[in-house]
Amino acid sequence: MLSTAEALATLLSAATPITGTESIPTLEALNRVLSADVISLLDVPPMNTSSMDGYAIRTEDLTTADGNRRLLISQRIPAGHAPEPLKPGTAARIFTGATVPRGADAIVMQEQTETDGNEVTLLHSPAPGEWITAQGADIRNGSIILPAGTRLTPQALGLAASVGCAELQVRRRVKVAVFFTGDELTMPGEPLKPGAIYNSNRFTLRGLLENLGCEVTDYGIVPDKLDATRTTLREAAQAHDLILTCGGVSVGEEDHVKPAVEAEGRLSMWQIAMKPGKPLAFGAVRRSAQQTDKDADAAASAETFFIGLPGNPVSSFATFLLFVRPFVLLLAGMRTVAPRVLSLRADFAQKKADRRNEFLRARVNAAGGLDLFPNQSSAVLTSTVWGDGLIDNPPNHAISVGETVRFIPFSELLN
Ligand code: AMP
Ligand code: MG
Repeated sequence: MLSTAEALATLLSAATPITGTESIPTLEALNRVLSADVISLLDVPPMNTSSMDGYAIRTEDLTTADGNRRLLISQRIPAGHAPEPLKPGTAARIFTGATVPRGADAIVMQEQTETDGNEVTLLHSPAPGEWITAQGADIRNGSIILPAGTRLTPQALGLAASVGCAELQVRRRVKVAVFFTGDELTMPGEPLKPGAIYNSNRFTLRGLLENLGCEVTDYGIVPDKLDATRTTLREAAQAHDLILTCGGVSVGEEDHVKPAVEAEGRLSMWQIAMKPGKPLAFGAVRRSAQQTDKDADAAASAETFFIGLPGNPVSSFATFLLFVRPFVLLLAGMRTVAPRVLSLRADFAQKKADRRNEFLRARVNAAGGLDLFPNQSSAVLTSTVWGDGLIDNPPNHAISVGETVRFIPFSELLN
């Protein structure tokens, strides 16, 4: 059996970013991955600005022997207007976001002043620089504000827009084909025959892929026949970067996914010392020469990656989060894909140690500790909705109350 870390390292070493890039409007770039650095061509803020409503003054005017705090108001500067240089010995009425006039080096907020409209009396002696946001304090002209490989969050789009970027260079979306095997699978909306179950994984896996920004082709349930499986694989290989399947990767399975992938490409069946999970299939499906001609993006490679997930709902969910997610994000062009792991206190005991690396569904309680979902079976999908994340518990390790454990929040894994 492979350790989780060995399996992950082998899988991720095969992932190279897709090559296709495009330039798209910043307004439409949410969740896309930058293929080039975004460099600011201006200082932000572009000039010294006031961060308060008040009066711009020259601090040296206040250090004269008589310590005069009464100054003539020589100009009024609303935001968006270019000021005159500040006349020595005077103050300028100024507003938040307005340009600080040349010569002024501090702002006194209006709450610390008295005025008759003509003159202002300062009730406070500001230090040089007080309430002034210096030109370039946030961003310097020429600096990289978002490196290539960044996935564009709403904040990142705002940052790009703040330096005037109307378009961004991004990689095309990762194209993933997905299908499901198992004669017991039924779609919601259809009556459940004896021995059948609903195809819940179709909903979970599609949602997970769409959350990652993938373009998904869903072939649904493929009949459990070798020919049908091979045909679907050949078709899917043509215009996708990854084929993801679910079910039929356990040892001794009757399903036709394994022989079909072996016939159409190559496949390694992995036994990973993890729970839930364990079986995972990784390989590739060949593209025919004729097929690669049809799709410029596909021409870069003669093969399409294949990952086969186990069918148990919690196993497929966990193996997706731990293996497929980072793999897809590397294809998408991201550079750092490891989730952040927190150290949190276990408010429960798990007396029985397991030989395998367990990924336990747990929830953060109001006291900042972790509670464990009572049923950790890999068929219990309710645990994934109840939980806020997975405890990464190493092999052969029992957990005692109060112990610090490794916790990977779903917020780190679901996007
Ligand atoms: P398998 O990996 O095919 O041996 O399936 C393991 C278990 O997961 C079996 O109980 C299957 O019925 C169940 N299963 C397989 N595929 C799905 C699916 N798409 N949705 C829900 N359960 C599934
Ligand atoms: Mg099956």
